[in-house]
Amino acid sequence: MILDISNLKGVPGKEIRDSLEVNLSEKKFSEYEHKFLEPIVIDFIAVNKGDHIYLSGEIKTLVELICGRCLKKIEFPVAMPFAEKFFQETQAGQTVDQEALDEGYTHSGNQICLDDLIEQYLVLNLPLKIVCQDACKGFCPKCGINLNYEHCECAIEEVDPRLAVLEKLLMSSSSPKEVEK
Ligand SMILES: [Zn+2]
Ligand SMILES: [Zn+2]
Repeated sequence: MILDISNLKGVPGKEIRDSLEVNLSEKKFSEYEHKFLEPIVIDFIAVNKGDHIYLSGEIKTLVELICGRCLKKIEFPVAMPFAEKFFQETQAGQTVDQEALDEGYTHSGNQICLDDLIEQYLVLNLPLKIVCQDACKGFCPKCGINLNYEHCECAIEEVDPRLAVLEKLLMSSSSPKEVEK
């Protein structure tokens, strides 16, 4: 997604308020690990701050996530406020100011590419682990049925692997009282 800032160039203090929509067939997003159910929309204000462009606003979309326990698909609405500085790159591809590297993003010419910004905000804001509901029971590790809908006998015997190790230790110990508190 490219933002054209030619109208801001050379006019410190000038700002643009607009909205952009990402074409999801763009390679970068079509191959993203999550499926987008709606286009990515960016409502923004871009301000010429003299030595940089200050871009703020909100990134919105609807992402499909998968429950980590039962693999059910979940619609996850995203609304991420953002505020970032974009510094002009020199022709050599270096930033004018070293501080820019620590403080924000870079852009070249009259264009700001928003792909990296969008991607970084998505990475930061999408949960790593998601469950369809707190009470989701997931699959039985033994027979594989979905325990949200069905019941199996093996579930009763199932022991937490960490507890199983402890149980083994207790069983093999000749003096179990030392292990007990
Ligand atoms: Zn689930
Ligand atoms: Zn089972």
